[in-house]
Amino acid sequence: MRKGWLALLLVLTISASAALLSTNFQNPNSTPSPKVKVLATFYPLAYMAGEIGGDRVSVRTLIPYNTEVHSWQPSTSDMIAVSEADVVVLNGGGLDWWMGEIFNSINMSGKLVVDTSQGLELLPLGGGHEGSLAEGRGDYDPHIWLSPYMAVRQAERIFSALVEKDPSGMKYYQERFEALKEHLEDLDERYQKELANKTKEVIIVAHEAYGYLAARYGFRQQGIIGISADQQPSTQTLRDLVDMMTENKIRVIYLDPAYSASYVMALKSEVEARTGWYVQVMKLYLALGPADGKDYLGQLEANLEALRVGLMDP
Ligand SMILES: [Zn+2]
Repeated sequence: MRKGWLALLLVLTISASAALLSTNFQNPNSTPSPKVKVLATFYPLAYMAGEIGGDRVSVRTLIPYNTEVHSWQPSTSDMIAVSEADVVVLNGGGLDWWMGEIFNSINMSGKLVVDTSQGLELLPLGGGHEGSLAEGRGDYDPHIWLSPYMAVRQAERIFSALVEKDPSGMKYYQERFEALKEHLEDLDERYQKELANKTKEVIIVAHEAYGYLAARYGFRQQGIIGISADQQPSTQTLRDLVDMMTENKIRVIYLDPAYSASYVMALKSEVEARTGWYVQVMKLYLALGPADGKDYLGQLEANLEALRVGLMDP
């Protein structure tokens, strides 16, 4: 009797796993056509492609999550990854300039390339980025993905490319794109509304990545270090920042977890020593990968909360 039960259990387990395997590999109930292979330069674009493409696409990300993007360079294995993709999604604006070199050395037939910054009004590079070796290829600020307003436009270009590559998925992509767009537009509205009564005109950031937020919602950013995480601020830069924070009563410094805190902490203690204030260091995400349990949209939302604190400080 006991043996019989065991045997039955075993059979059931095996057939259940077999069923699971077959759905994993074939999924007979859905479309039989193979998935569209999407390769995105980095996390925010991969996130958008995944949101819009859903089950009809497989998405790969070239730059590992939460890696400093400006100094990153592709290797041979990255070239192979690009060559295997049906759709390649770029940020543009000088961020992933090296992709052009990859395209020149692989077979591009049948490949669709989407530059998500194409046709967008890009800002010229700010002070912190000038003369940077890593970004010498571009004259524009590439950080469009941090602005929900600009991100809608990027998502739109990804959506069009997926429809072009896989026209039978048009309706599916359309629905999913509309949902993402709605979320981003809602965020844009909240940024406008919730930052409307700001009391400060400028924020202090480790890395000047928030130019598109600043331009759209009416404030300025002042960076401590340059474009690269290992770049150092001069003593003069730090002194100017201390003056600026003191004069404008700025008591918040923003830092993305991907960047070193050392200069931020130096500035914090300098201002605290001079004024006797408590200076708060807050996270402002670059959205280069999931962080603190937050995905791309979660980080854009957290950024709004953080900006409220700094810009509404009395
Ligand atoms: Zn950056």
